Amino acid sequence: LRPMSALASTATSYPTTHERIAKPEDTPWFVDNEFLPSKADKFIELYDPATNNLVTRVPQSTDAELQAAVDSAQKAFPAWRSMSVLARQQIMFKYVNLIRENWDRLAASITLEQGKTFVDARGDVLRGLQVAEAACGAPEFLKGEILEVAKDMETRSYKEPLGVVAAICPFNFPAMIPLWCIPIATVTGNTIIVKPSERDPGATMILAELAKKAGFPPGVINVIHGAHRTVDFILDAPEIKAVSFVGGNKAGEYIYSRASANGKRVQANLGAKNHAAVMPDCNKNQFLNAVSGAAFGAAGQRCMALSTLVMVGETKEWLSDLAESAKQLHVNGGFEEGADLGPVISPQSKERIESLIKSAEEEGATILLDGRGFKPEKYPNGNWVGPTIIANVTADMKCYKEEIFGPVLVCLNVDTLDEAIELINKNEYGNGTAIFTRSGPTAETFRRNIEAGQVGINVPIPVPLPMFSFTGNKKSIAGGGANTFYGQPGVNFYTQQKTVTAMWSSADAISKKADVAMPTHN
Ligand code: NAD
Repeated sequence: LRPMSALASTATSYPTTHERIAKPEDTPWFVDNEFLPSKADKFIELYDPATNNLVTRVPQSTDAELQAAVDSAQKAFPAWRSMSVLARQQIMFKYVNLIRENWDRLAASITLEQGKTFVDARGDVLRGLQVAEAACGAPEFLKGEILEVAKDMETRSYKEPLGVVAAICPFNFPAMIPLWCIPIATVTGNTIIVKPSERDPGATMILAELAKKAGFPPGVINVIHGAHRTVDFILDAPEIKAVSFVGGNKAGEYIYSRASANGKRVQANLGAKNHAAVMPDCNKNQFLNAVSGAAFGAAGQRCMALSTLVMVGETKEWLSDLAESAKQLHVNGGFEEGADLGPVISPQSKERIESLIKSAEEEGATILLDGRGFKPEKYPNGNWVGPTIIANVTADMKCYKEEIFGPVLVCLNVDTLDEAIELINKNEYGNGTAIFTRSGPTAETFRRNIEAGQVGINVPIPVPLPMFSFTGNKKSIAGGGANTFYGQPGVNFYTQQKTVTAMWSSADAISKKADVAMPTHN
């Protein structure tokens, strides 16, 4: 691969997907509003999941580069935090418009590197864009509180930025997750270092280019690359005050502990195993259509994918209809017209998913629809797994206990709603859950007694929009869920409160004698 140097010396923009396919280049890093070639001696190769052709090499940023990114963000902070919130809001408005204008370009980069279909990649961008749109409300949500606490005395509260913050992102939403972090962190006055997933950093690079065009000053948003070493640098850098992480439990639990031990704020969204309870009184067609999309869309690589069905009573008989509906889905390259799901991220991921299907077979479950061995004609070398449905699963099986993160739906049978609730609550994850029913009281019983943090009633993927917050719980979020992404909790995460108590008494009202007791207010 050609290094980026030729481009970087002149380029203010990141190449388009067409240009990248025609002429693959190493991924640059982004500091002080410039794309620079990395001086790394280690690179991580990134392959198109549909073809396994080499797309780019992602550098393991050098220590000097990592420090330079932090220094740049540190240097940019004082002026950025002093800028009025209205001025930051204007930049955010421009950023929103630019993301909208570059929507397809962002989506194309996602399809190339991550594999999801172009239509779904547009959804990935939209979900991030909505957070940027919500961030435009900063003058409203940064308002403090004020109370006259005594005669001539008042207390006011301010929300102030923390300083330099960092985001460590997963591969499965290359635009949405960076945009869960960048807009709120920056509009509240912080500067941010973003480490995209080493498996698909392209969307973040485009977002960096657009940030510069929108008017973010140099250093407010920097992008560094790499895997564990870069993460460790972020966790230990004393200048970084807060870390946002989204990804799996292994990395996330480690990141939460190490960053917390270093005195940083951490928000960390982790893995999931999302269940739906299917009641006999539900609208069967609605259930069939909703579940096919929620289980197999994005090849099941969504943290809110509906991966587990709890079939209540006679609904277990519906699984053959579900298999028929799933068979209609087109598995194909993400740029192909009509593709419903693309490949999984890597050959290793495909192998892991297939071995979990095999384990289910060995443990006595029924493979009702088997996606192993599927290959679309035009893409024989991709990482393909077709929609797979495993019936008669029990809670002690490996395919139930592990997050599969592929287009595989596992189905368990119970007799009653209470048993469904008990089963779902026993699962250690608590990201999302859903119930399909036409009964208000049944839905209400489920809503009240279920432990998972995001509940859908006839809604298979109940992800709250940015005016709410992303409220997974239990093992799906580190730290007991105290710090959740976006919405008002997201603003609270990126700000610290300052309270000011002031007294303005006229001189003759001030007592001549010193007071030594704690003041008592009547
Ligand atoms: P991952 O944990 O492998 O990687 C996430 C990030 O952590 C990457 O930037 C990676 O470089 C870094 N990383 C990976 N292993 C590390 C280690 N041992 N030490 C330090 N850093 C490490 O996750 P992924 O495979 O990219 O993403 C899929 C996972 O993310 C799934 O488990 C999914 O459920 C989860 N996810 C959760 C949410 C949510 O909101 N709960 C959203 C999206 C994805």
